[in-house]
Amino acid sequence: MFGEKRLRSKLFGSSGVRGLVNVDLTPILAAKIGLAVVTFSKAKKVLAARDTRVSGLMLENALVSGLLAAGANVTCSDVVPTPVLAFLTKKLNADAGVMITASHNPPEYNGIKIFDNDGLAYDEESQNKIERIIDRGSFSLAEWRNIGQATCTDESSLYFEMMAKSVKLEKKWHLVVDPGCGATYSLAPAVFKKLGCRLLAVNAQPDGFFPARSSEPNPDSLKPLAKIVKRLGVDMGIAYDGDGDRVAFIDEKGNFADFDRSLAAYAARVVKKNGGGTVATNVEASMCVEKMVEAQGGRVIRTKVGDIYISEAVKRHTTVFGGEPCGAWIHPKFHYCPDGILSSILLLKALEDEGKRLSEFIAETPQYATVRENIHCSNEIKHAVVEEAGEDLKTVFPSYKEFSTVDGVRLTIRNGWILVRASGTEPVIRLTAEGETLRAAKNIVGKGVALVRKLVKESRK
Ligand code: MG
Repeated sequence: MFGEKRLRSKLFGSSGVRGLVNVDLTPILAAKIGLAVVTFSKAKKVLAARDTRVSGLMLENALVSGLLAAGANVTCSDVVPTPVLAFLTKKLNADAGVMITASHNPPEYNGIKIFDNDGLAYDEESQNKIERIIDRGSFSLAEWRNIGQATCTDESSLYFEMMAKSVKLEKKWHLVVDPGCGATYSLAPAVFKKLGCRLLAVNAQPDGFFPARSSEPNPDSLKPLAKIVKRLGVDMGIAYDGDGDRVAFIDEKGNFADFDRSLAAYAARVVKKNGGGTVATNVEASMCVEKMVEAQGGRVIRTKVGDIYISEAVKRHTTVFGGEPCGAWIHPKFHYCPDGILSSILLLKALEDEGKRLSEFIAETPQYATVRENIHCSNEIKHAVVEEAGEDLKTVFPSYKEFSTVDGVRLTIRNGWILVRASGTEPVIRLTAEGETLRAAKNIVGKGVALVRKLVKESRK
């Protein structure tokens, strides 16, 4: 469908490089990325790891080859979750960390995510610089005698120790844990056992074909887990994505815990515990986050969609918590990478402290309605249309409270909001609106759709 050339126009997305294996992302490209990372960062020591994907070792070997050729020493950590790689990069004083993963994408995909010496994912600027080095082929190859050394050691015990030291659970939680055959397959069950939980682990064998369920935990892919939770009458079901930076929960009744509401409930709990503070979330998250966080005296800042933007904001604004409503939660006290295992343990701890079951904890968060609409618009004009829509939306909603161009255009109005964004990959403009009721949300999005349709029509003339 599309080759390395297509990726060339924009190699890095909001989560590093990602694409179809041996179509978009080849070992040749992986080696070039390895060379470019060291050329750019002048790294002397780099950590490399992968998730369980079939293509993981092939790409890791190629990437490591590039890193070594540029003169960096590389510690290969085998299969570990992305947050563990990020944590170890900082802990072991590496100059950079590289993770081979396509996160929650299907098994035929893979990707490369790069972290700096602080365990923070590379921002757009650094990614663009790496991209330019690859485009120009301006790699700094080491002299033969200065080629790097590779060692293979599994240091994930350091993460395990940090976890066991930092969090103590009083209750003997009864859990079903579902790593989905991904990178958390051994670490997650081991951590819960260490913390004294009673555990049933399902899909806890590494398998890069993800045969058991989609590697993206969502209400649909977790139906079997929900059934098990209900039948066994356990306290909670916990599931991770392919590389373990996302987590989803099934409550004690066997219901999928809504992403937005669990994020809001947990964020409010962190703010309460800290006696205030800032929380970072993206422009698409529900306004229930503000509702809950502000009730505890906290403040919410909104970023572009993509966990690297949340991580960046968490560090820059010294927030107490950050997260996206896909189960990617960041706990800055520990590190800057979304961390599924850590999130699930901290949630259990929060429930213990509050003396609540998961369904009760989430029930305190109001449930609002979200409506989404896509409008076809050619790639050439979609960005201009979105920009124009921004000013016009203010006229459509004259009593708006906030106007933001952090990602597309977003207008906060009384009891709701609307977001208009150009799709990154398709000839489409996406509209999202939230209201206190479905009727209110439909009303808001309806006004936005009418406006955008009018603008698209006018631009064609
Ligand atoms: Mg992920």
